[in-house]
Amino acid sequence: MSETAYKVLYRKYRPNNFSEVVGQDTITETLKASIKNKTFAHAYVFTGPRGTGKTSTAKIMAKALNCENPIDGEPCGKCRCCQDFTTSPDIIEIDAASNNGVDEIRELRNNVMLSPGESKYKIYIIDEVHMLSAGAFNALLKTLEEPPEHAVFILATTEVYKIPITILSRCQRYDFKKISKQDMLSHLKDICFKEKISCDEAALDEIYELSDGCLRDALSILDQLSKGDKKITSENIAERYNLVSDKKIDELFKKIVKSNSEEVINILNQFQDNGMNPQKLIKKILKFLEKKCIEIKSGVNKEFSFIKVKKLMIALNDIYIDARINDNVYSMVILAILDLMNDQVIEKDKPDIKTNPLSIIDIRINNCFESADKESLQKITALWNSLLKDKLSELDVSEYKPVASSNKHVIFTSEDESLVNLFNMKSEDVEKMLKKAKMQVKVVAITESRWKDEKEKYKVNVKKGYKYKYIEEPEKKITDDAEIKELFEDKLIEVS
Ligand SMILES: [Zn+2]
Repeated sequence: MSETAYKVLYRKYRPNNFSEVVGQDTITETLKASIKNKTFAHAYVFTGPRGTGKTSTAKIMAKALNCENPIDGEPCGKCRCCQDFTTSPDIIEIDAASNNGVDEIRELRNNVMLSPGESKYKIYIIDEVHMLSAGAFNALLKTLEEPPEHAVFILATTEVYKIPITILSRCQRYDFKKISKQDMLSHLKDICFKEKISCDEAALDEIYELSDGCLRDALSILDQLSKGDKKITSENIAERYNLVSDKKIDELFKKIVKSNSEEVINILNQFQDNGMNPQKLIKKILKFLEKKCIEIKSGVNKEFSFIKVKKLMIALNDIYIDARINDNVYSMVILAILDLMNDQVIEKDKPDIKTNPLSIIDIRINNCFESADKESLQKITALWNSLLKDKLSELDVSEYKPVASSNKHVIFTSEDESLVNLFNMKSEDVEKMLKKAKMQVKVVAITESRWKDEKEKYKVNVKKGYKYKYIEEPEKKITDDAEIKELFEDKLIEVS
């Protein structure tokens, strides 16, 4: 398309009056009121990030000041001044970025005293004013100290701190904000509608993220994407701008959950090979995790655990901060994610069932829970009570109480840890005795306090629907368990 036929969106949709300025309502309302009430100042500083409407607003202000019939503070758009605005000799635009503005400011000083040609005011719009040289600032200051009644200065800048305080103190200052997401999206939707551009919500979100609150950038992105005839989707934006799409991040996390570290590294390497900015990647992951947190908290997502997601977010945030001074951000991201995978930090909350138990005690507890039932417990309780009078070598039966049982395993508790150890040491004798009473089971004793914990865990696991799995006992004696051995060696003398 030729330039004449095609007008770029950001030119086409440049605001013509205050109400069309996007996302700066407080400022435009104040300026409008000052025109209406004739309380405007003679020098302004408009500061804020690029693409937030500073220059557009300055031009509207200039137009409104010279308008012959302003309507409620807005330029009428019909009078001679409004019509001839772009060619008016009384609107003087100076770009301080070129030549430090020395010549322009000198000319300004020479001409500012002359009355405007055809309008009420001579309006100087100085763009990028922070670029003025010291000499030019001095010259400007002299003018601002004693400005003629017919002159209005609007200084626009992205870096207000570079402007001498002597200048600032003579100006009314307005701070332009980045365009909010809501304002930006509604503006983009409006343009899409008018231009018949088909663009889905996710794509608009993506454009907003890319623009970082700069309307000019957002419109130029929309411009470029709308030249194809396909519908604009977040996927083709990601492709075109070398972004990581939400879909890719989703994929990455599926691999993380599955602890597939090879695939995780592959995906991250792909991002790096594609030249994806690592900080943007981290930002994207953080956004993704933020959504997950909300889902977890509202009970929608049961795939991730809140604490683990939080931990990963903190780690990534640290890397993000360090990225300014660290060249190896990708390595750090990969490391953090792998580290967390090893910790199973991101993985779904594991049931509190030991899949790799350290001891036979653990295995027996697990196996008892695997098929525990009330009947078995009643049976062993009755049997155990009948044995109360018996003495099993130095084991006092009355010191132990069966608390859980299946038809193959029984858990006993005792108050005292040394008694528990003694029981486990003598477990084979107990089993033989029970076998005589026609009960073939494996036994294990734990302290009452441990039982409390185990019971609690069991309840939680059952509630969450986790299934206990039977674990084969290794070929070793219960007394080989490190914890028993240790205590056993200590207390052997005491016990016997
Ligand atoms: Zn007018």
